[in-house]
Amino acid sequence: MPASSANGNVFYCKNFDQNDIASDTLCLLGSFCLILFGTKSYFSGLTAYSFSLFAFACCTLLSFVYYKRYGNWRFHRGFIAASFTFLCLFLVASGGEENTGLLWCYAFPLLSFTIVGPIYGRILITFVLTCSAVILYFPDLVWASHSYTDNTKHRFIGSIIFVSVMAHFMERSRVIAQTQSDEANEELRKLARSDELTGTYNRRGIKQKVQLELHRVVRDRTEMSLVLCDVDLFKNINDQYGHDMGDLALKHIANRMRNLVRVTDVVGRWGGEEFLILLPNTSLNEGYQLIERIRERIASEPIVVDDIKLNLSISCGICSTRFFSNFDDLIKTADKSLYDAKAHGRNCTRPSIHATG
Ligand code: GH3
Ligand code: MG
Ligand code: MG
Repeated sequence: MPASSANGNVFYCKNFDQNDIASDTLCLLGSFCLILFGTKSYFSGLTAYSFSLFAFACCTLLSFVYYKRYGNWRFHRGFIAASFTFLCLFLVASGGEENTGLLWCYAFPLLSFTIVGPIYGRILITFVLTCSAVILYFPDLVWASHSYTDNTKHRFIGSIIFVSVMAHFMERSRVIAQTQSDEANEELRKLARSDELTGTYNRRGIKQKVQLELHRVVRDRTEMSLVLCDVDLFKNINDQYGHDMGDLALKHIANRMRNLVRVTDVVGRWGGEEFLILLPNTSLNEGYQLIERIRERIASEPIVVDDIKLNLSISCGICSTRFFSNFDDLIKTADKSLYDAKAHGRNCTRPSIHATG
């Protein structure tokens, strides 16, 4: 099911399916009212009419039980919409008890928007209004048994159109508000996971990605590699050319990494001038070759800003889930290998296949 959509054809799914309190209340309260008024009609001598109301209540309750048991919301939604449509037309046609049937029809516009959403809701309401007009003004054509006065018919049609238009605008505002809120939430979620300077994942974001991937590794019995990279002698760049130049260098390295990894790989800023690269479905050997390519490209292509040529290089530590299975061990090991790379003169990659001490 899609998450959100501006055309409004999706939220009703969420509403009716996921907002269980609203849909449950609708079914249970609807059935309760039908049984209550059915019982009253039965004791008033309107046996056929009361049994019709009981039948509608039974259908609603059965659909409710079926939905709760099997979770088939599509069927439940369609069934409830169809049965409320028939109930509404039945009330208009029969007149209900003492011609009060029309009163219940005012709930229909709101109900149909709640159940089937704005687009199908509009279609359903137009259908019910058209059928109601035919039933009211041409009763012989459809064997209707009501006895409304002409004044009641005119007023009912006028007021139900008014209620439907109002319900339409309310639904429209709800959909717009929901779209805006979903977009804002998505933006916030993105911001919470991304690094402002480099546009890569931040520590929290990449950590989430690694942990998700670790689940997949266990489930699918695959191998994933993790690389911790640190910019060499970065402090010198800041000291020599200023913090802004340092920031530019970090952006440059992040872009390089993002452009050189595969689409399934994930780059994140682990902190300061350190980057963590997640390589799903990658053995230690494959990951080593990949990160070596990236390291060589960064070292061989200096950045030039305002006639200043900056030679950059990174040192990397790589490890894989073949040897380490949990997040903390992987990070600790990658960090230890990175430390080895620094100790071995920088601008190189050290793999790790042993547990850290
Ligand atoms: P090494 O090769 O051993 O890693 O040396 P280094 O100079 O890179 O390491 P060190 O830890 O001494 O210095 C890291 C520097 O990175 C210090 C810190 O000010 C700088 N730094 C951390 N985050 C940022 C940032 O967002 N922007 C800039 N411009 N500098 C940063
Ligand atoms: Mg560092
Ligand atoms: Mg450094």
